[in-house]
Amino acid sequence: MVKGVMSIKLSDRQHEIIEIVKKEQPITSEQIADRLNLTRAALRSDLSILTMTGILEARPKVGYFHTGRVPFNMLVQYVDNIKVKDIKTRPMVVDGDTSVYDSIVTIFIEDIGTLFIQSEGYLAGVVSRKDFVKHAIGTNDLTRLPVNMIMTRMPNIIMLEDDETMADAIMKMVEHEIDCMPVVEKCNTGDGKERYKITGRVSKTGIIRAIYEMIKA
Ligand code: ADP
Repeated sequence: MVKGVMSIKLSDRQHEIIEIVKKEQPITSEQIADRLNLTRAALRSDLSILTMTGILEARPKVGYFHTGRVPFNMLVQYVDNIKVKDIKTRPMVVDGDTSVYDSIVTIFIEDIGTLFIQSEGYLAGVVSRKDFVKHAIGTNDLTRLPVNMIMTRMPNIIMLEDDETMADAIMKMVEHEIDCMPVVEKCNTGDGKERYKITGRVSKTGIIRAIYEMIKA
């Protein structure tokens, strides 16, 4: 379950109304008011919010139905609020001297498309399916070629930090035409160089999964 899915708040009463409609649809506003011991007038604004957002549908002379749709503005709010730390998954990291052959085996075993490469424990590069294909087409002996020879290397890596949002992640993916980014923590190593520890990954699949969880919730 992605943390923060429930951070988009309808009021408690609006949730109660949705539950009643789900169970008893079609149901009239009088009947909903009755279940909640309220007057119809007291319910009017909640019902209009729930129909305007598309969560409920009002059919004249029949009553209210639950549509199962997620309001677009809620999705936007979700994408804008949820943090990278809440959607990141475990990173797959190998050392730079790992062979291209073993790296390819790893992406199959782990069922992923991008590997992160580290050097002395810090992010050094990224290697993706296209990089592997490009080098597999040549006559290279893939068991002898180290993965750091074919990776895209620092400082050209597009990264994310925990407190960026899912919207930031989507923007970076589209603008840089990449499928996956390492989530990093900047480290002060005292030598004046910027180094980053890899703490997670965010991939297109991860983004789709987070949106799916929001729709389901
Ligand atoms: P695929 O190879 O499956 O198309 P990408 O579109 O992510 O995957 O990769 C395209 C190119 O971008 C590759 O050369 C890869 O090394 C590079 N790349 C992938 N992810 C990143 C990243 N986060 N930062 C910089 N370059 C990346």
